[in-house]
Amino acid sequence: MNSNLLIQAEGLYKTYGHGEGAVTALNHVSLDIYDGELLVILGSSGCGKSTLLNMLGGMDAPDEGTVFFDGKSIFSGGDSSMTRYRRNTVGFVFQSFNLIQELTALENVRLTAVNEERARKALELVGLEQRLNSYPSQFSGGQQQRVSIARALAKDARIMLCDEPTGALDYETGKQILNVLEDLCRGHHKTVVIVTHTKEIGRMADRVVRMRNGGIIETTENPNPVSAKNIEW
Ligand code: ADP
Ligand code: MG
Repeated sequence: MNSNLLIQAEGLYKTYGHGEGAVTALNHVSLDIYDGELLVILGSSGCGKSTLLNMLGGMDAPDEGTVFFDGKSIFSGGDSSMTRYRRNTVGFVFQSFNLIQELTALENVRLTAVNEERARKALELVGLEQRLNSYPSQFSGGQQQRVSIARALAKDARIMLCDEPTGALDYETGKQILNVLEDLCRGHHKTVVIVTHTKEIGRMADRVVRMRNGGIIETTENPNPVSAKNIEW
C-alpha cells in the first residue's frame, strides 16, 4: 500500500438538533486516508457513516474539527475553497445514483467532466461506451450506478467517496459494481472509500474502519485483500 497521506480528518464532531432531541452524529472522529488505498467504512445504520463521508467530501461542515487536504483545511478558506475541493478533488457515488432523468448517460457525465472526451472515456471505463445516448430510465440499476461512477471519474477526482454503492442493487449487480470500484483503485490509482453495512465487503479493502455510535471503534489492515469477485455475503 502506498503510504502517502491524502486526506486527514481530525476531531470531527457534529450534532443534529437541540436540547433533549439532539443527536451526536460524529463524536470526535479522526481518520487518515492514504493515496491509492481502498478503504471500507463499516457500521450499522445510524452510526454516522454518511455524515463522516459527507465531511470528507466537503459536502457538510463539522461543528468542531476539520479535514485537511494537501496540508490545508478544506473548511478554513470559506465556501469557495470547499466548493473547489468538492468540484475538483472528490467524486461521489450514492446508493440512489442521483442521475438527472432528462439527460442521457453522456450528458449526465458531461456535467462534471473536464471535456467531452473525458466523459466518453469514463463511460468506456465502466463498460457503457455503447450506451452513451440512453436515458437513466432505459438502464438497469447496475448500469445507472455505472453512469454515476463514470460521472465521478470524469472530473478526474483523486478520491471516490461511495455511500452504500450497492445498497439499491441485487447481489450479482452489486458485486459487479464492487469490481468496477476495485479496478479503479487497483488499476487506475484512484483512492476509493466505500461505506457499507455489509461486513463481508470489508474483505476487499486495504483497511477497514468500523464505526459505532458516531465513533471509530476499530481500524484493521488487510495485508491480502480478497478480490471483489471472490467475496460472498
Ligand atoms: P449512517 O450513514 O451510518 O446510517 P448517518 O450519518 O446518516 O448514519 O446518521 C448519523 C446520525 O445522525 C443518525 O442518528 C441520524 O438520524 C442523524 N442525522 C443524520 N443526518 C441528520 C439530519 N440532517 N438531521 C437530523 N439528524 C440527522
Ligand atoms: Mg448512510
